[in-house]
Amino acid sequence: MTTNRTFTMIKPDAVKNGHTGAILNDIIHAGFKIVAMKYVQLTEKQAKKFYEVHAERPFYMDLVNFMISGPIVAAVLEKDNAIEDFRKLIGATNPKDAAEGTIRNKYAESIEANAVHGSDSNENAAIESDLHFSMYERF
Ligand code: ATP
Ligand code: MG
Repeated sequence: MTTNRTFTMIKPDAVKNGHTGAILNDIIHAGFKIVAMKYVQLTEKQAKKFYEVHAERPFYMDLVNFMISGPIVAAVLEKDNAIEDFRKLIGATNPKDAAEGTIRNKYAESIEANAVHGSDSNENAAIESDLHFSMYERF
């Protein structure tokens, strides 16, 4: 079964470092269509909710504070096999382990400030997209 949509965020480090355009270019050239997109700064409440699966991890509050430290670009992307292909395009969580040419390999600073988010399942892609976009904001 192929998945068609994923949800991504260009994280505050990559926005701050001026990589927004290059990352969007990589995403588009990899064959993803932009279904929805916005430039926003998350509130603490939103960031906590987004990463609540990690609430018990020692890095949780650091991660939340990082995610609200500046604006992000949120987007819904469409492509055959979107979840898996996008995870491949962004590379491993830790940029030190991310394959050559992946977005995290090229633009991430650290395991925390790792440039982009990509949904890990079809179900989570739908939940995450719904946190950020109404049906009227998807094209
Ligand atoms: P994301 O969900 O953001 O796409 P991921 O699925 O590759 O990343 P997760 O395990 O879901 O990785 O972790 C979520 C985020 O938490 C990571 O992207 C990273 O920003 C942060 N993180 C993960 N592990 C650590 C760690 N050991 N120390 C600090 N931050 C971490
Ligand atoms: Mg994840």
